[in-house]
Amino acid sequence: MPNANSKPWRRAIALADMNAFFASIEQLDDPALRGRPVAVTNGMRGSCIITCSYEARACGVKTTMRLRDALKLCPELVRKPARPQRYAEISSRIMHALGCITPLIEVFSVDEAFLDVTASQKMFGSVEAIGEHIKQVIYQVSGVRCSVGISEGKLSAKWAAKQNKPDGLTILPPEQVRAALAGRPVDELCGIARGIREHLARYGAHTCGDVAKLPMSVLAGRWGSIGRRLWSVCRGHDPAPLELDVAAPKSIGHGKVMPPDTRDADTVHTYLIHMAEKVAARLRKHNYEASRFYIGLRTRERWLEYQYRVMPTDSSSKLRRMCQHFLQQHWHGEGVFQVQITAQDPQPTGQQQDWLRPQRDQQRALHQVVDTINQRYGEFAIAPGVLLGRSDMPNVIAPAWRPEGHRATIEGARHVRKTGHHRQRRTAAGLPERIS
Ligand SMILES: [Mg+2]
Repeated sequence: MPNANSKPWRRAIALADMNAFFASIEQLDDPALRGRPVAVTNGMRGSCIITCSYEARACGVKTTMRLRDALKLCPELVRKPARPQRYAEISSRIMHALGCITPLIEVFSVDEAFLDVTASQKMFGSVEAIGEHIKQVIYQVSGVRCSVGISEGKLSAKWAAKQNKPDGLTILPPEQVRAALAGRPVDELCGIARGIREHLARYGAHTCGDVAKLPMSVLAGRWGSIGRRLWSVCRGHDPAPLELDVAAPKSIGHGKVMPPDTRDADTVHTYLIHMAEKVAARLRKHNYEASRFYIGLRTRERWLEYQYRVMPTDSSSKLRRMCQHFLQQHWHGEGVFQVQITAQDPQPTGQQQDWLRPQRDQQRALHQVVDTINQRYGEFAIAPGVLLGRSDMPNVIAPAWRPEGHRATIEGARHVRKTGHHRQRRTAAGLPERIS
């Protein structure tokens, strides 16, 4: 075991795995459930157990078991219908907090994350200290306990985390990985399905140690790079990098509450243009364009709204023109309480051929200058004259914005572009900020 004086590892990967995540949240939110066996099911009709508390596990209840069978083992079992939004909310909170330890995080599932803590060793002094800190951070922000495994790669860290549940911390130093895995069945490694296990068994390979002794070609020939990785893991080294990408933002929007019942056309126009400038600047900052823009004005009774479909754009002037069109066509002087503009389908710039847009380069150069000045001197140091009368009231959350799966809401470092064949990875350098 390394200590504070030991040499830092060449690579250190941690896996944090929340314990009985959904059931733990049910117990946190309802103190009456604490210390009791709880099973989470899909609504009140779901017949299978999605997950259950450790109290239920102690009675032999397991995930995927039928509720009917579980009740035979544990008659006092409490059923709770799943609340996915609540779990996603806590998950987002946890993943965001982990970003304070390292920006290099792979959100592996709603309740698991890999952290590349190689560079954190210097600050914390040891991998044990990092592991303790991860557990503490998660507990502080969510009240949920977790198990942490730390090793030289993802698969060994994940295996290590499983060795000590719940609330465990397992350190598996790089030089001990091969020996630790040698006697273990190969399907103890994450992702080893029965088919792989059976195929390997034909070669007499049942344990990781057996696999390590096979020629690499046996695995590579059958499964390509996945086979090579498995072989390498069994020999004590997992080179797989963390997947730092997360899904592209679902939307980029800005909205603002207005003085109640505003009927003055200039004021409404100014608010709308202000939001348009903000949305366009944010698109450009993150190298996105969008082809669907929602514009909305909330009146006393309802939202006056329209969705524009255009060629993909990040242009302020195009957005301003949409706003003008919108006011002419869809607003007839009703009192307005709130404005909103949302780019609904942000995509990485450059998906469309540029010959479709001849003025594009000129416009892009102008935007670059304006954005650079504004980034240095503050938002709207340069802006259309109409914004001189803009409001400084706080922005509001877009009504169109919804957290679509927790990945989209995770703040911080891991920003993403993932669109069809176009895929970019951001690493520690030049991390972009949150888009929502
Ligand atoms: Mg878990």
